[in-house]
Formats: sequence, C-alpha cells, structure tokens
Amino acid sequence: MRILIANDDGYLAPGLAALVRACAGLGHIDVIAPEQNASGTSNALTLNRPLSIFEARGEHVQGFRVVNGTPSDCVHVALTGLLAQRPDLVLSGINNGANMGDDTLYSGTVAAAMEGYLFGVPAIAFSQVEKGWAHLDAAAAAARAVVDQVLAQSLLGGLPWLLNVNIPNRADAATLPRVVTRLGRRHASEPVLRQTSPRGEDIYWIGPAGDARECGEGTDFHAVAQGRVSITPLQVDLTDHASSALWAKRLAGGAA
Ligand code: MN
Repeated sequence: MRILIANDDGYLAPGLAALVRACAGLGHIDVIAPEQNASGTSNALTLNRPLSIFEARGEHVQGFRVVNGTPSDCVHVALTGLLAQRPDLVLSGINNGANMGDDTLYSGTVAAAMEGYLFGVPAIAFSQVEKGWAHLDAAAAAARAVVDQVLAQSLLGGLPWLLNVNIPNRADAATLPRVVTRLGRRHASEPVLRQTSPRGEDIYWIGPAGDARECGEGTDFHAVAQGRVSITPLQVDLTDHASSALWAKRLAGGAA
C-alpha cells in the first residue's frame, strides 16, 4: 500500500510527524507538506509563481518533501507528476485544532485531503479538537485505528470518499467510541481587530471563529463534546439541490 501524507500546519508541525509515526508498517509513505503554516488557506493553489520542493533533514522530518506553497499545492503536485506511483490513500493532519462545521470550508487540512479525493483517491483529514498538541500520540493512535478499520473493511480501490475526523485531546483518545456525524454550524466569526502599525497605518487581524451555534445531537460538535471521535463523510458538490426548482421558477422561466 502507498500512503501520501500532507498537512496545513507546515512540515515542522508535531501533528504531521505523529501521524507519520502512527502509520509505520502500513506500506510506502510519502510525506509532502507546506514549508510554512498554511492554516486557513482552504483549497488555494499557487498560480502566480513556480513552486520549489526540497527534502527535509532532521530527527522528526527526515525525508519529508517540503513545498513553498499551500496544502492543496502539495497534494496536487504529488498526484500530477512528483510521485512515480499513485497513492492508495491520502491522509492530512493531524491538525492543531478542530475542523468542525464551517471550519471545513476554510481548512487547509480538509483541503489537502479533498485534493486527493478530487483526483480519485480516498482521503481522510485528521484534527485534534483543542490546539496545543496535548495527548498528540493518543490522537495519532486514534487516527491509526481509523485507518486500520478502513483497511479491515477493504474500502480502498473503489470509488473515492472523503472523511473529516476530529479527535478529542484525551489520553484515552485511541479507545474512545467513533461516531459518524454531520457538520454543525458556527456563529459568525468575531469582529475584525483593528490596530495601528509601527508606521501609523491601520492594520486588521481576522477575528477568531465563532462558537458553535448548531451543535445538537448528530453533529461533529456534539460528538466531541461527548468524548467521541467524530467522523463526518464529506462531499464536494455545493449545489443547493433542494432549492433548484424554486430558483428555476424565480429566474429561469421554470427550467431547472
Ligand atoms: Mn492548521
């Protein structure tokens, strides 16, 4: 088996090394990750300059390939020419912080997995719910358990699929129950923060994400609050199928 592993926190992030370690023994592993933290870059591709790739050296990153671009760049380049052989599975993470509800639209972690899915490879994005890497090895063991279950169910090789996994920061993360969820929703994010630069210019920081708004039973927010590993199957089609007929009536003479 061949596994491609990427992330969005950058190649030096502990979550990436932990995921790579947890996958030891599963087959051939390629790691291709961004040079810098690229959290919040969603599915961005770098189109206005070329990309450079170097091989990392060092204790926890030996052999990782590093791209001066986005998470999607990493997986895109890997699948369109860099890798000699197509991977059977793309993994992303482990992210430093939750990717639940609306986060999934902004997440580079989810995007790296999604890039694999868009190229027909099954893919899983892994995130720890709290930032700070507490109980990271337990989260990595939980991620490995998900991969092992995928293999036990013989889920590779057919139609691609995309899973978004959020893991509570707990020492017992690897033995927590897994539950399949839907995405919840967050409140609108906090207001932008305006400051003055040392040169007297107005500067702005994007505010933090809002708290969970729709977080009832069945959502990812609810699952992790109950101490479960949340697994949300994702799709990419943003079409609002339920309202298509209505919009046809309003704007297109009835033709949907
Ligand atoms: Mn991140």
